[in-house]
Amino acid sequence: MTNHAKIPFLDLATLHQELEPELLPVLQQALRTAGFIGGPMLQEFEGEFAAFCDTAHCVGVSSGTDAVRFALMAAGVRPGDIVVTVPHTFIATTEAISQAGGRPDFVDIDERTYNMDPVKLQEYFERECYFDRETGKPYHRKSRAPVTAVVPVHLYGQTADMDPILDLARRYQLLVVEDACQAHGAEYFSKKENRWRKAGAMGHAGAFSFYPGKNLGACGEAGAATTNDPAVAQKMRMLRDHGQARKYYHDVEGYNGRLDSIQAGILTVKLRHLAEWNRQRQEVARQYDELFSRTEGVTTPYCPDWARHVYHLYVVRVQNREGLQKHLAEAKIDTGIHYPIPLHLQQAYENFGYHAGEFPVSEQAAAEILSLPMFPQLTHSQQKEVTGKVIEFVTTAVGASR
Ligand SMILES: *Cc1c(COP(=O)(O)O)cnc(C)c1O
Repeated sequence: MTNHAKIPFLDLATLHQELEPELLPVLQQALRTAGFIGGPMLQEFEGEFAAFCDTAHCVGVSSGTDAVRFALMAAGVRPGDIVVTVPHTFIATTEAISQAGGRPDFVDIDERTYNMDPVKLQEYFERECYFDRETGKPYHRKSRAPVTAVVPVHLYGQTADMDPILDLARRYQLLVVEDACQAHGAEYFSKKENRWRKAGAMGHAGAFSFYPGKNLGACGEAGAATTNDPAVAQKMRMLRDHGQARKYYHDVEGYNGRLDSIQAGILTVKLRHLAEWNRQRQEVARQYDELFSRTEGVTTPYCPDWARHVYHLYVVRVQNREGLQKHLAEAKIDTGIHYPIPLHLQQAYENFGYHAGEFPVSEQAAAEILSLPMFPQLTHSQQKEVTGKVIEFVTTAVGASR
C-alpha cells in the first residue's frame, strides 16, 4: 500500500511560488523600461555570474547548447576539427561540437565518477593519433583530421578529474571547453595548483545551461559561457549577436543567440539563492547516502576527495533498473534516466559507424543508472519513502535471483 502523495522528481512550481515576490519586480522593471534585449539587467547578471564562477568574463547566451557552441568556436575550433568528449552525456554536448563545424569523437568514462577517464583520453592520443613532425599537433589516424579540442562534461554536478585532462591538453596543444551545464558551483581540488577551482574556470572556456530544471534555472531558455580570456569573451559576444560588435558592422557571420534581459534579471535574483540551494542538495545527498549505507545492491554516487559535488542529479546504480523504476512508479515516485542510450549508439550518429561494445563503461552505466528525486526542498520523510521502496525492491530482487 502506498498512502503518501506523489513524490516528484523535481518540484519547480513550489519554488517559483515562493520566489514570486522577488521575481515580479524584474518583470515590472522590464515592462516599464521596455529593456528586453541587452542593457543593465544583462550586464548585472553577467558580472555576478562571472564572480560566482571565479572567471573574468561571462557572456549570457540563449541556451547551454549555444554556450558550448560559441565557446568552442571562440576558443578556436575550426570546421573539420575533431573534438573529443564522452558518450555518456546529453546530446547537446555533441550537437554543439557539430554546429561549431567539428566532428565529435569519444573516449570512455570512469566507472565510478561517470565522467571522462583521463587514462582513456591519453590512450586515445597514443593509439588513434599521429603527430605532425613540425608542430607536434595530433591528427586522427583514420580520418587524418586534426584533433584540436576536448570537452570534459561535469555530469550530474561533479567535475571531471581536470588536472590530468589539463596536462594532456597542454601536451597535445588542445583547447579545453568545460561542459558545466549541470555543475553550477561545483568545485575541483587541483593538486597541481593546491587550491579549489570552480567549474567553468579551468579550461579556455566553460558552458552553463539555465534550462529551468538545472541547479540555476531561468523561466525559459537561457545559458552562459565563461572565460578568463578577453579575446575569447569578445568573440563569444560577437557570435551571439550576428557577428557584430557595432550595430550593422558584421565582422563575421554570427547567430541570434542572446540572453533575454528578463531571463537575466530572473537569474540575478535566483543566483542569490544558489549557494544555499546547492548546500541543501548536498544535505539531501548525504541523507540518501546514509539511508542506503547498509544496503547491498545499490551503488550510490562516488565523490572523490577532490570533488565538491552539487548534485544536479542523485544517480544510483542497480542490476534490474527497469524493474526498480517500475516498482517506484507504482509507488508514485518519479525517477529519470540520464541517459538511457550512450551517444555513440544513438540513431543520429549511425553514420559515424560506432558499434556496441566500443565504450563498455558508458554502455553498462547507461543500462544500470537511475536518477532519484532530487531538489533542495525534498523532505527527509519523502527521502525515507524513496529509499524504503528502493531497498524493498533490491532486497527482494536479490533474494529472488539467488
Ligand atoms: C542541459 C545540458 C546542455 C544543454 O543545455 P540547454 O540549455 O538545454 O541547451 C548541455 N550539456 C549538458 C551536459 C546538459 O545537461
